[in-house]
Amino acid sequence: MTDAPDRTAIVCGNRTLTFAELGRSAVGLARRLSESVVAGHPVAVVMPNGPELSAAIFAAWLAGAQVALMNPGFTGRELRLLLERSGASVVLTAAGAADQVFAAAESLGLELVVVGTRELDLETWCGDETLTITDDQLPPPDRLATMMFTGGTTGVPKGVDHTHRTLMLTVLGMEGCWPTRPGAEVWLNVAPSFHIWGLLMGILNPVYGHATVVICQGFKPDAVATAIRDHRVTVFGGGPAEIYAGLLSSEHANRANLSTVRVCPGGGSRFSAALHDRWLHRTGVVIREAYGMTELAPITCNRSDMSPRPGSVGLPAAGVEVRVVDPDNPHRLANAREAGEIQVRAPHMTIGYHDPAHNDGAFADGWLNTGDIGYLDEDGFLFIVDRMKDMLIVGGFNVYPREIDETLCHFPGILDAATVGVADERRGERPVSFVVVDAGVVLDRAELADYCTANLAHYKQPRDVRVVGQLPKTAANKIDRVALRKMAADM
Ligand code: ATP
Ligand code: MG
Repeated sequence: MTDAPDRTAIVCGNRTLTFAELGRSAVGLARRLSESVVAGHPVAVVMPNGPELSAAIFAAWLAGAQVALMNPGFTGRELRLLLERSGASVVLTAAGAADQVFAAAESLGLELVVVGTRELDLETWCGDETLTITDDQLPPPDRLATMMFTGGTTGVPKGVDHTHRTLMLTVLGMEGCWPTRPGAEVWLNVAPSFHIWGLLMGILNPVYGHATVVICQGFKPDAVATAIRDHRVTVFGGGPAEIYAGLLSSEHANRANLSTVRVCPGGGSRFSAALHDRWLHRTGVVIREAYGMTELAPITCNRSDMSPRPGSVGLPAAGVEVRVVDPDNPHRLANAREAGEIQVRAPHMTIGYHDPAHNDGAFADGWLNTGDIGYLDEDGFLFIVDRMKDMLIVGGFNVYPREIDETLCHFPGILDAATVGVADERRGERPVSFVVVDAGVVLDRAELADYCTANLAHYKQPRDVRVVGQLPKTAANKIDRVALRKMAADM
């Protein structure tokens, strides 16, 4: 896997694996999987981040399988749904995985392969020098490589198919946004590797860059800050804005020495201007915001070699075409600075959703409808306005929650905000906001109301602002708007 087989590939808690050990683990496990796998068919991989997950993905590829990645924290019902959708007949999991993973596989009569037992132990393979990768095990570029499920932010997660070709081009696309020094970086990943961001930042891009990756299981700001300091992390895999905001809101993390970090990629959710400023002020490093989705990543990025344009998700990444169309007439291209639906096309785009029913309406002439609203400026920089499904219609006016959230975040003491719509007899919908405030801050409601009146048109002003300890998050660490809508409706 690298010209320096003894270089550390993975650090996870007190365990480390060299590149040679990671390779041997993958080959050892691939032997076992070859007994069960049919080339090109999916194997479900349901594991938390860690050496087992990294080895399992490479092993499944060596055995010829398509890897269907699933959240090990899902409930039995959710897992059964994804397992059925994936069409996998084998479930690869780790000893110590939650009971529901075993129960879901058993209830569907699927074969379970458990890594970390005495028979299937990484330690045993690590020391076996006879385990080497042979050329005939390397997958052809057009074989299916992954089936990843979308974040489910707007509904039920959709399975997205990538081939080895589109996935490898994705890795190269990420590297093109934030070039790293081969063999000289230490990455840290907090994002779950069953999603595209965590798969890239936690496994594929570090391996591609012959780098060490420090893998965190779950996001605990204090532990992450300590790991950055102890391992002298240079590339902080970051991810959505919520991760950066979480680190800034931890007192310990705020005191820790993060000075080794020099690359901070961000993406997956909106970053407010205030958050960019606070991170830059705290670390001296600019968050390099990108825009991407499970179906195509990266789409745009603020490359390391350019000055980021405030509020923009950057320029199209290499090979990506981006256009904005009138949502009511997709044949009309929007003018510069005119908002519309973002459509994208690129060689590293998914070959389609696993369930063909999801492809209807999603693609047209090779272009993917992103479901996001945005605009391009005169220089081709892309700005995201909001998701189409998050838009509210208040008294006939389109309201983008992101604008309200950004405005609220500029009010002194407010750290984070998320606005959703609640059914309203008179106006159709009314905006309701949830905010997180700085420790010890008591919101002055009258001042906040004046501030909203001064900064937002009447129909955009939140009709209710509720202070919460934290905003609910999805498994991908994004704000869970479905949960917020329920909370707002129950108020
Ligand atoms: P689902 O498609 O199931 O609703 P999802 O769209 O959240 O879930 P992902 O593929 O993980 O699943 O996320 C892609 C989406 O994340 C994009 O379509 C966009 O809405 C949002 N996103 C990504 N990067 C950014 C960014 N930098 N700023 C704002 N939004 C972003
Ligand atoms: Mg989506």
